[in-house]
Amino acid sequence: MSNKDVLVFEIEQAKGKPRDVEHKKDYCPFCDTKSLTNIIDQSGDMIWLKNKFKTLRDTEQTIIIESHDHYGDISNYSVEKNQEVFNYIYECWNKMIQSKKYESVLMYKNFGPMSGGSLRHPHFQIIGLNKVDGYKHIEPENFTGMDVFNSKHINVNVSEKPIMGFVEFNVTINNPKYIDDLAEFTRVTVKYVLDDLYDGKFDSYNIFFYKVGRKIICKVEARYVVSPYFVGYRLSQRDGDDQVKGIAAVLLQRLKENAHSKEIELN
Ligand SMILES: [Zn+2]
Repeated sequence: MSNKDVLVFEIEQAKGKPRDVEHKKDYCPFCDTKSLTNIIDQSGDMIWLKNKFKTLRDTEQTIIIESHDHYGDISNYSVEKNQEVFNYIYECWNKMIQSKKYESVLMYKNFGPMSGGSLRHPHFQIIGLNKVDGYKHIEPENFTGMDVFNSKHINVNVSEKPIMGFVEFNVTINNPKYIDDLAEFTRVTVKYVLDDLYDGKFDSYNIFFYKVGRKIICKVEARYVVSPYFVGYRLSQRDGDDQVKGIAAVLLQRLKENAHSKEIELN
């Protein structure tokens, strides 16, 4: 394996990084917006800025603060607020991609103690990788699976070949102009993961974005302790077919009840 595959963590830079997930009473730098520096752009209460605590070599690490509300989350935003967030983060991500300054540009978010995140305040990360192709190990079959919902412009499925497992949902739109639908189907999926999946066992999730041609894929990953099969052998796990069928059926029900989208009305 060449060095081009590895992200190098620089410990010196990470020192002093606040971790309010562990120390709840700690000061939140994203609430204290007056003290923010290196702001790239701003829209309403959403702020795009360079990460003060840059920890990875040969990268440009940026953050988008989604809301002024410290306890905001995709699962509790209004339909409109959530669509606002998705439109804005897509715009920022696309700017970095179009700049052609990076080998690849990643966009993702952490939520909850099992997700790898260190700050509660809702934010996305957009990371430009100078030398690494962040999509190198991703294959088309990581985005296909058992269909939950399918229409002309949008597909929701449960991964049959998850990147890590156990449960990964893929929400795909075939053109960026349907970003409002991507936001809405993802919002209901995230709510389903936190409220319903395995009777509410999950308090953490990740969202990862991928761009494949004109398609935009949003992968919602329910997070739990990482399986040793994956850690030691890179073997991903998924639930059995009956289990996945049950999950798909309940999520479809939630989408029909809660998703504000013409796509769902037409189906
Ligand atoms: Zn905060």
